[in-house]
Amino acid sequence: MSSPVRGTPTLLGLPYDASSSFLRGTAGAPPVIRQALHSPAGNQWTETGVDLGANGALGDAGDVPLGTSGAEVRAKIEEAVRTLLESGGRPIVLGGDHSISYPVIRAVRWSHARLSVLHFDAHPDLYPEFEGDPYSHACPFSRVMEERLADQLVQVGIRAMTAAQRAQAERYGVEVIDMDAWVAGRRPALRHPVYVSIDVDAFDPAFAPGVSHREPGGLTVREVLTVLHGLSVPLVGADIVEFNPAQDASGMTATLCAKLVKEVAGKMT
Ligand code: MN
Ligand code: MN
Repeated sequence: MSSPVRGTPTLLGLPYDASSSFLRGTAGAPPVIRQALHSPAGNQWTETGVDLGANGALGDAGDVPLGTSGAEVRAKIEEAVRTLLESGGRPIVLGGDHSISYPVIRAVRWSHARLSVLHFDAHPDLYPEFEGDPYSHACPFSRVMEERLADQLVQVGIRAMTAAQRAQAERYGVEVIDMDAWVAGRRPALRHPVYVSIDVDAFDPAFAPGVSHREPGGLTVREVLTVLHGLSVPLVGADIVEFNPAQDASGMTATLCAKLVKEVAGKMT
């Protein structure tokens, strides 16, 4: 594993899925994404002209060993991301279920006085608690907003809003660009350095069948790449979550996750 230098986009795997509400399996994602990333089927160049195969262009801090006790897991995640940031890496986190974003963003916030969060998802993940668990993968952005970890939260791809989550979105001033608004032409306008959280179920299941909660009517790969390539604020960190290899018979979703890693890393470079 290469050690990160200042500002180097660096992979960090979080093999954790014990806060999933439906299917398990996302804990198996990090090695599958790495395998797709290094597949001889493709090359290491990003669409924006960065060679990630060049020496030191992309770091890899490996996977964090995580247990199943929630509080302990969150503390380990926060510490691992903070350590990566302190050593000069820029995190590209491979989930895991979406619960991991809350401790990751806590760590990222520690080094950024102003922070926007751009969240791609079919679901707003804004439940106050879900089935008794405030740290469920259905809740991370409620925790982020109530702790003021983000100055701005913009959600893109939403198509499974509920009344309870709409109330939370209004309470915290979340900018929700649901699929109707997206089709009507609304796009994110970010004010601060941005952390990008990509729940793979934001994509239409035609592009990304390997998820635990398939929700038809979603984004295309090109639409998300266009947003990423067009970011005009610094990209300080990212996660790619909710890829479930057990649901990915074709391997297409693994390839998509690898593509996202590449284009995020290219944008950080
Ligand atoms: Mn989702
Ligand atoms: Mn999610």
